Amino acid sequence: MKTSELRIVIIGGGIGGASAVLALKSRGIRADVYEQAPVLGEVGAGIGIRPPTVNCFKKWGIYEDIERVTSRSDHMEIIAGDDQVFIKEAWPVLTDDTSEAYARLIHRADLLDTLISHIPEDQLHLDHRLTEVIDHGDYAEVKFANGKTIEADLVIAADGIRSPIRDQVLDKQEPVYSGYLAHRALISTEAALGMASQDNILRIYVDGDSSVYLMPLEGRDQVSVDVTVPGKFAWRPEITKEELMESIKGFGPTIQKIVNRIDMKNIVTRPLCDLEPMTKWSTKCVTLIGDAAHAMLHNQGQGANMAIQDGEVLAEAIVEAETIAEALQVYEEKRKPITKLYQDLSRLFPTDKAETAFPEKAHF
Ligand SMILES: Cc1cc2nc3c(=O)[nH]c(=O)nc-3n(C[C@H](O)[C@H](O)[C@H](O)COP(=O)(O)OP(=O)(O)OC[C@H]3O[C@@H](n4cnc5c(N)ncnc54)[C@H](O)[C@@H]3O)c2cc1C
Repeated sequence: MKTSELRIVIIGGGIGGASAVLALKSRGIRADVYEQAPVLGEVGAGIGIRPPTVNCFKKWGIYEDIERVTSRSDHMEIIAGDDQVFIKEAWPVLTDDTSEAYARLIHRADLLDTLISHIPEDQLHLDHRLTEVIDHGDYAEVKFANGKTIEADLVIAADGIRSPIRDQVLDKQEPVYSGYLAHRALISTEAALGMASQDNILRIYVDGDSSVYLMPLEGRDQVSVDVTVPGKFAWRPEITKEELMESIKGFGPTIQKIVNRIDMKNIVTRPLCDLEPMTKWSTKCVTLIGDAAHAMLHNQGQGANMAIQDGEVLAEAIVEAETIAEALQVYEEKRKPITKLYQDLSRLFPTDKAETAFPEKAHF
């Protein structure tokens, strides 16, 4: 396949879409990314980058830039009350390189900024909301709300859990609500009252089926706080400080004090949803990556990692295959088992009955 002549369009400029551009760019293949947002704002919270993902960054030549905005974490803890640590466990290595026994803690916005900074300006098109994809078999037409229409040999749908492309050209999927809401905010390290001092340990406090995550973000002098509690579904749920405090009343006094310090103007509440594993991710010229293909709950911290690794495997398959259709088949075959595994494991919520923080270890 003559990759230099391929017209590749990526819809969605989140972590999955930005990663796919860079995976292709590292192999000398151009792809254009179209994002509906007019500007890329600071959205999200802390995430943990895992060793197989670090390997992708090394291959794409962006490792040093990523390292500048991450901090290394060698283990995580699960804690009951304010201080009863009942699990303290090293992050799994997950690759053959045992010197890479860390997770890198980073704010989603810093990760996305770093990825975007490596995309050539003329390949990033903001303010382009896809409205329709017409699949013609060996090429696709893509239409945007601003009136533009383009043709592509390959459309990569990195358009998130509610992917309009998936629903138009593959199977319509309804996100599955877990029964939990996540309330997330950033606070200063000082406001975390020494519970997330800059030791780069992700700590998960649990009380029954509720949890509070504290993830230190060293370079920002901030802590990413996530309060995950059972709640009623809404795409944009609202919560008052009183309701938030009521939902964590079984936690230790220090955790309650920390959560009480959250400025409610800065809290983002989301329903935790995933997808059931799908049997088909691709047609002959349209494929899904990231949350569009295999959205998972945040419990294993793998959603962004899987989206990034999808880009690498897809780019590799495009280089090696004779046709796009063949490449998409190889990509799906390689990615489905691991993403299904993490979709399943991510449905386990942390509890004070847990024996491991990383049930994935049993599978590697
Ligand atoms: C608090 C929190 C913590 C998390 N922690 C972790 C972690 O530790 N580790 C981890 O791996 N993952 C984590 N995740 C999950 C991770 O953020 C997602 O799984 C990952 O970002 C998926 O990326 P994506 O690019 O597939 O989708 P998205 O990030 O949803 O991006 C989709 C993009 O497509 C665009 N789009 C949608 N529709 C259209 C359209 N019609 N036209 C054009 N553009 C469109 C959207 O605007 C968006 O920019 C966490 C998530 C949260 C919220």
